[in-house]
Amino acid sequence: MNAPLDSLLEILDNGATPGARSVPVLMPVALDQTYDYLVPEGMEAGPGSFVLVPFGPQTRIGIVWDGPRGDGKPVDPKKMKALTSGIDAPPLPEISMRFAEWVARYTLAPLGMVVRMMMSADTAFEPPKHRFGVAIVEGAAPPPKITPARTRVLDVAADGLVRAKSDLAELAGCSTGVIDGLAAAGMLVEVAIPERVFPRPNPAHATATFTADQTRAVDSLKSAVDAQNFSVTLLDGVTGSGKTEVYFEAVARVLEAGQQTLILLPEIALTSQFLDRFERRFGVRPVEWHSALRPAERGRIWKGVARGDVRCVVGARSALFLPFCQLGLIVVDEEHDQGFKQDDRVHYQGRDMAVVRGSLGKFPVVLASATPSIESHVNALIGRYRHAVLPGRFSGVEMPDVSAIDLRSEKLEPGKWLSQRLVQGITETIEKGQQSLLFLNRRGYAPLTLCRSCGHRLECPQCTAWLVEHRFKKKLTCHHCGFSLALPEKCPKCATPGSLVACGPGVERVQEEVAERFPDARVALLSSDLIPGLTEMREIIRSIEAREFDIIIGTQIVAKGHNFPGLALVGVVDGDLGLAHGADPRAAERTFQLLHQVTGRAGRTSFVGRGLVQTYAPEHPVMQAIVAGDRDAFLNYEVRTRQAGLLPPYGRLAAIIISSRDKALTETVARDIARRAPQSDAISVLGPSEAPISVVRGRYRWRLLVKAPRDVDLQGYLRAWAGTIPKLKSDVRITVDIDPYNFL
Ligand code: ADP
Ligand code: ZN
Repeated sequence: MNAPLDSLLEILDNGATPGARSVPVLMPVALDQTYDYLVPEGMEAGPGSFVLVPFGPQTRIGIVWDGPRGDGKPVDPKKMKALTSGIDAPPLPEISMRFAEWVARYTLAPLGMVVRMMMSADTAFEPPKHRFGVAIVEGAAPPPKITPARTRVLDVAADGLVRAKSDLAELAGCSTGVIDGLAAAGMLVEVAIPERVFPRPNPAHATATFTADQTRAVDSLKSAVDAQNFSVTLLDGVTGSGKTEVYFEAVARVLEAGQQTLILLPEIALTSQFLDRFERRFGVRPVEWHSALRPAERGRIWKGVARGDVRCVVGARSALFLPFCQLGLIVVDEEHDQGFKQDDRVHYQGRDMAVVRGSLGKFPVVLASATPSIESHVNALIGRYRHAVLPGRFSGVEMPDVSAIDLRSEKLEPGKWLSQRLVQGITETIEKGQQSLLFLNRRGYAPLTLCRSCGHRLECPQCTAWLVEHRFKKKLTCHHCGFSLALPEKCPKCATPGSLVACGPGVERVQEEVAERFPDARVALLSSDLIPGLTEMREIIRSIEAREFDIIIGTQIVAKGHNFPGLALVGVVDGDLGLAHGADPRAAERTFQLLHQVTGRAGRTSFVGRGLVQTYAPEHPVMQAIVAGDRDAFLNYEVRTRQAGLLPPYGRLAAIIISSRDKALTETVARDIARRAPQSDAISVLGPSEAPISVVRGRYRWRLLVKAPRDVDLQGYLRAWAGTIPKLKSDVRITVDIDPYNFL
């Protein structure tokens, strides 16, 4: 079809006056449809362009979509508003639009909310702010008055670089007044500081020499890359087997081919250790993407990715929604990590969406882990994924020797949390000049505070949760809503002074015991609430690596991704902790992964490490597999359990959470919604029932769980169901969570 005919049809289509063209615009809000806007004469508004549009009483940024979405009711052209103006930002690539649509369809989130995630870089859509600096004017006549300060400035500026006035003044050791003087005299000229360019990783910078096993894995990944098609490879190998080194080769191959690459890591694994390694391999640091970036940096990176200037991004799950225009590979490292699941607004599993992105973009995806998720394990087993295995550690050091400490026979002293055997182990480790790690996945001092006199338990006023004592901060805090109060001196109920006692241990309490037992040891405490940010986190990790501590106490933030060469002993304070969640089908998997990862931190490079796991249930299959170091035994056990229960990946789950501030209303709505569930032989709806955490932030919560066989269109079923639900009171919220990881 030729262009004039094309636009004629368009005019007939929307009935607008001849010459007026309209485009569908998608807004980054909780809506699933586009709105038509007129394109003013002479304005470019191609698909993917970002535009300013009048939207209700405001002017907001939207995206010109490449087709109408939603109910498609034609807008009366007389009422149609016009685009306000274009925005100077690279357009959203077509593949990003398809990806957004896919994610929205799968997660049942409004398309606008998915697109909003793709736009989470406000400064990318603002006019660029040019910073100005000064540079020397070549061949300018010397100024009439030359002072020593002026000479120093001219000496520094002689290299011709553009510098901010303040930087130049600092380098020359003078005030900016001197610089202004030289500029007035025509010796320096004011120019825009050029935008920093993104350094290009060099695929040939420093290649490793691989072992035979590693070479096989490298070849397998390279052939996946060379196939220039979609595939998923599970890169499966114990910690320290060289997975990172191996997938770097795939990254190099893709960079050589001129395409972009993305490495996804759990946010807490984005340590400087990882960035350093990248730099050693590729000669430059990668571009990072995570929640701690400054706004200006986010905008710069967003544009760099869209323009193709950024070649490799290392990021947390949100990096998946960057506007890559030539993406050729995604690596999901620690693919089993639950940090890839997002549980607010758009509920998505980053690992799964990475696979989707690969399939849309027709490129390979690599999932790496020492403890693969059951889903990926099964996919590799049945041949849907390729399987590249690294059987042993690169260093040749054996996996740690793990044993259970049965707390039923080896009783803890009252008010103490470390058994004699564990204390003994730490003592020996310190004597050898090596490090010990005590792992307890619980922040704070004590998970429960109660009154000795009346038995009152201190609960959050807005949630069904106990308040957790944080002794350093002298506060009781709710881990669900952040409510906190100063540690009271007397019981809030019976007013008995000094009657409140702490029950159970958190990491702070373990630290107290360690300080008492090992007064001379250098102790580091790692807990997310005690570390302000990524920078501080990186500093602590570095100092542990440098052996500046003897004993490290930490929550799960120490379990992942780090390599501490001096670490010889890992003690798990409460091995049973993760198994307590009865309703969570992934509790066993998660516990196994966490215990395996954390004990795997010991003895990675030069000596065999040791793991000691304190437990009241040494006969549990998870504990047995951890002690035997038999990952496959656990996987087999868990696969059978999932198969028998038709749980993922053998069945599909969706959670529906109904919440409101009104207790009775929440229950009524939940029951009403359940009654409206369409009849289906294949799909079962469990509940409604009150959520295990029945109140959060003052909102009452009920849950439904929908179970479907793999091959049934679960989303279609849920959509049909949603269509039968009448309009709800504004306070009632319904959340749909496809493939839920949270059952509380
Ligand atoms: P994983 O990602 O499986 O935990 P890594 O890639 O971190 O394993 O490798 C563990 C350690 O062994 C790292 O210090 C890494 O640099 C080193 N290593 C692995 N393979 C090689 C190799 N082929 N040549 C040199 N060093 C290697
Ligand atoms: Zn609370």
